[in-house]
Amino acid sequence: MSVDIEAYSAIKKKLTDQSVNLVAVSKFKSVEDIKVLYDAGQRDFGENFVQELLLKQEQLPKDINWHFIGHLQSNKVKYIAGFIHLIHGVDSAKLLLEINKQAKKCERTISCLLQVYIAEEETKYGFSEKELSVLKESESLTNVEVKGLMGMASFTEDKEKIKNEFSKLATIYKSFGTSNLVAKPLSILSMGMSSDYEIATQCGSNMVRIGSLLFGSRTNSPS
Ligand SMILES: *Cc1c(COP(=O)(O)O)cnc(C)c1O
Repeated sequence: MSVDIEAYSAIKKKLTDQSVNLVAVSKFKSVEDIKVLYDAGQRDFGENFVQELLLKQEQLPKDINWHFIGHLQSNKVKYIAGFIHLIHGVDSAKLLLEINKQAKKCERTISCLLQVYIAEEETKYGFSEKELSVLKESESLTNVEVKGLMGMASFTEDKEKIKNEFSKLATIYKSFGTSNLVAKPLSILSMGMSSDYEIATQCGSNMVRIGSLLFGSRTNSPS
């Protein structure tokens, strides 16, 4: 069993004390592993791939809050619209429109986070700060609620660099709490993974997405 219950309890306690929500990232991990954390009280789990998420959602308890944290293709939104709790990685206006459309069909409102491009690497998806004016436009959509922002720092050992990137996103996030650019202030700032979640919470993150510290390291295929 690769699930580390002791690590889970320690991390969970630390985050709870700081009012930070924990999303346990279970990609490539088995339903048995997920069940171990579920039995320990965890209800929020994050997945990156639609097909894998559907298989797991079917087999696991229905009170799990499923978070989609990967890159979501528009043509796959319909498969998860009926149950998804929060979509973290919304990276285009087109995707937001599709989520709205599919949510309407399911008679739901789907909560979303806009992914913001903060890393210097060019491979990362997301909006630039300027493009976040899409937030204002999103208010006319009846079946999506944009609750906050999500970001990933550069993959680097350079803690200063990570800190700068997270701070940048936290500043953008805060500006939407005070500006009249949006009707409702944002409430979720999703940033931080196993390697950098402590830096992220210091910078103001209130939702972290942690996989390998809880489930053990991943081989690059479903277990
Ligand atoms: C895989 C993944 C995580 C978790 O990564 P760990 O390093 O295992 O904690 C968090 N966020 C996103 C977007 C991911 O793809």
